[in-house]
Formats: sequence, C-alpha cells, structure tokens
Amino acid sequence: RAEGGRRSGRAQRLTVLSGPSGVGKSTVVRELRAEHPEVWLSVSVTTRAPRPGETDGVEYHFTDDAGFDAMIAAGELLEWAQFAGNRYGTPRAPVEERLRGGRPVLLEIDLQGARQVRETMAEALQVFLAPPSWEELVRRLTGRGTEPPEVVQRRLDTARVELAAEKEFDTTLVNTSVDEVRERLLALIGVRGDA
Ligand code: 5GP
Repeated sequence: RAEGGRRSGRAQRLTVLSGPSGVGKSTVVRELRAEHPEVWLSVSVTTRAPRPGETDGVEYHFTDDAGFDAMIAAGELLEWAQFAGNRYGTPRAPVEERLRGGRPVLLEIDLQGARQVRETMAEALQVFLAPPSWEELVRRLTGRGTEPPEVVQRRLDTARVELAAEKEFDTTLVNTSVDEVRERLLALIGVRGDA
C-alpha cells in the first residue's frame, strides 16, 4: 500500500497516530510539538472526566453525554469512538481549517477512530505506535497510577485487541525511545528533511 506516491511522498498533510492505550502516544506527541509547534494537534472532545492536571481546552474539550450527542447530531465530529466506557471524538471544523491553510495536522486517536479516518480521508498517513513488548505495555498501563484497577484491566483487554490491528496501518513505529520515535514521526510528517 505504500507504493504509488500518495502515501510515500510528503504531500499528505494529515497524519493519524494510533496504537494501544498506554503505549506512549501523548508523550511522543507532546515532545514533537515542543520542538515543532507548527504541527497542529487536534484537541479531541471527550466524556471522560479530567485527570489531575488536565485543563479543559488543552488536553481535551471535556463534555457530558448530552453535549457529545449534540455534536454527533450536528455532524461536527470527523470521527468518534467509544473507548473504555467513555466517548472521544475529533471536532471536524478546526481540522479542515488547518488543512485548508496547508498546515500539517496530527490526530492522536484510538484504533476505531483511525479506521473511520481511513474511510473518509484516505490520503491521511496512518502510523501505528507499538510497544517494545507486551510486558512493557502492561508495566506502563499499570504504573500510570491514575486509574482504578478495573479501568486498567479494561484498557489492557482493549490493548490486546488493538495490537492485532498493526497490519492495517501504513507504517509502524516501535516506542523504544521517545526521542527516536519523535524524529521518525517528524520525518514521516515531512517537517524535517531526512524522511
Ligand atoms: P485517554 O483517556 O487515555 O486520554 O485516551 C484513551 C484513548 O482514546 C487513547 O487511545 C486516545 O488516543 C484515544 N482518543 C483520544 N482522543 C480521541 C478522539 O478524538 N477520537 C478517537 N477515536 N480516539 C481518541
């Protein structure tokens, strides 16, 4: 699928970063943006409660079920998914606006969301972030300490299924080092010359 120019060149402006919960997607994205703020990161809307330290409008737009329903009904979400008991979605208008302006856009979303974007925006580059090993993923999800054990268990069950989806993606980055993944992802997005 990588042949044929569309995905191999640097013309694509939309990059989807997906992978199991706990693999380190947000850390990679945070570090990438610290260095390259011109890469625009979509801020998702979610019905999940804020974690300590999260601010509305920064990590997420936090809303309730009614607010989320209203956004779906109004066609305001580019994609959305149910994940570990909460809903998450990508507001459509800000993404389309940045793409129109020629800006590189990054979506950090779950697997179901990645599938929807594959259907609706086939030109997007789909990147899978994989853990170095299953044991390492368990360690990271358990060690986060922000969720109760039953939520961690649920995320681990989901992660097992999500790992199998790697083959659906254009490319895989293994998260052995945040620095290395950040550089590789920058090259894939095309903001750096060593792609
Ligand atoms: P968390 O609760 O840990 O912040 O996120 C849980 C999962 O939801 C992660 O895999 C994250 O990538 C995913 N996620 C965050 N925002 C979105 C979104 O807008 N759409 C979809 N489909 N998944 C999202």
